[in-house]
Amino acid sequence: MKKQNNKSKKQKKTFKKRPASVDLQFKGQCSHLDNEGRGVMTYKGESIPVSYVLPGEQAMISATKHGKYYETRIQSIMEKSNQRVQAPCPYFYECGGCQLQHMAYASQLAFKQSQVQKLMKAYGQCLPIIGMEDPWYYRNKITATFKNQGKTVLSGFYKAFSHDVVAIENCMIQEKVADPILATIRQLCKQYKIQIYNEDTKNGFLRHVMIRTGHKTGEVMVVFVVADKIFPSKNNLMKALLSAHPEINTVVMNINNRSTSVVLGQQEIILHGNGTIRDELCGMSFLISSQSFYQINPVQTEKLYNAALDFADIKKDEVVLDTYSGIGTIALLAAQHADEVYGVEINKSAVENAIKNAKLNHIKHVRFVEDDATNAMVQMAKERFKVDVLFMDPPRDGSTPQFLDAALKLRPKKIVYISCNPETQARDLKHLIKKYKVEKIQPVDMFAHTGHVESVCLLKIK
Ligand code: SAH
Repeated sequence: MKKQNNKSKKQKKTFKKRPASVDLQFKGQCSHLDNEGRGVMTYKGESIPVSYVLPGEQAMISATKHGKYYETRIQSIMEKSNQRVQAPCPYFYECGGCQLQHMAYASQLAFKQSQVQKLMKAYGQCLPIIGMEDPWYYRNKITATFKNQGKTVLSGFYKAFSHDVVAIENCMIQEKVADPILATIRQLCKQYKIQIYNEDTKNGFLRHVMIRTGHKTGEVMVVFVVADKIFPSKNNLMKALLSAHPEINTVVMNINNRSTSVVLGQQEIILHGNGTIRDELCGMSFLISSQSFYQINPVQTEKLYNAALDFADIKKDEVVLDTYSGIGTIALLAAQHADEVYGVEINKSAVENAIKNAKLNHIKHVRFVEDDATNAMVQMAKERFKVDVLFMDPPRDGSTPQFLDAALKLRPKKIVYISCNPETQARDLKHLIKKYKVEKIQPVDMFAHTGHVESVCLLKIK
């Protein structure tokens, strides 16, 4: 009997009705921007994030509340901020790619500086943020999603917080080579009747096209992310694509038949070239394959790496460990200063790239290991491995407590922590300051017009 009761409770929970949407309207002043760059306004004591309002602005907002989430629209702005500018991209208010184009670039930088400073206030004063001289057309990687509209094929990016595709012909953030290639692909899809994948029905073939460019070399990679191994009209389509765009060095077919929103699948077939492109950073060459991480803003990456290497101040006899090492960029740059360097990275193809990159740059004294960074650190701490300089550059979630404990045991003289999410970085620093002092904090704008900011910290053993 009791069991049955439990079951019916459980069922009740499972079939609980979704909360009804509630429409409301309110007037107020934006107090500040949240971490995503949305204006924060107050309604009946509740903080509501409102996209596209700026601090100090008085605005009339209409909103629909779905559960805890508010979908907001600006009705009118009564008092405009002097930081407001006309967003240059016509898709800005629809597309979810950028969040801050309505804010003067200098104000965006000031906002990001204050975000990092707020998070790091316990550790000292941040250095002035390194901004871009020309904050447009910087992104070296884009992932376009496709949709049908009648007989026309459109491509673009998802609307913010949704999977609705906003059709885009010219993006002011990505490097200029990508748009004409996408236009050709749209036309070829129509010509060869390539079925566009439908996320709801799970039918269709083409899911995304990823384009990656080498900023310095001009090399281009096109990745067709598809739901099936059989590529209809492949030879004709490839011939037409390559003759229209001789700038394409390699084309990869990536098969992703999963129903998650992860873009790339595991299986790949190279259709043209060797599956990698080459780029140059800080005077060195790097091969990059489709599955490997590579910083998306090459102009700022050089500044970021220069700051990180400058903080590390590596001496010849120091042992350097680069964790979350990607295709080996930081480790290989560090190898110009030290005789013994190690890199640890979990992604197989990134490690393969890193090993090739060492050869390409004639560097023999770096060893790359394919492993989980936490595993590797715990093992090294057990073996009392000697590390003098530790670089760490984890993904947005930051590192793990076990990694940080192992770092405290390894006791490198210096830790250079590079992060694309200062929130998790500040959390991890709290752990490290048991034995380390934060000496320098450098914010870098890697993601102009978005709410994101990069931060590099130098820690020295106490
Ligand atoms: N330092 C590199 C890469 C930074 S991005 C650069 O500047 O290009 C973070 C990297 O961490 C990615 O390459 C990702 O594949 C890797 N990574 C993610 N989780 C990891 C883990 N648990 N252990 C090791 N590497 C990991």
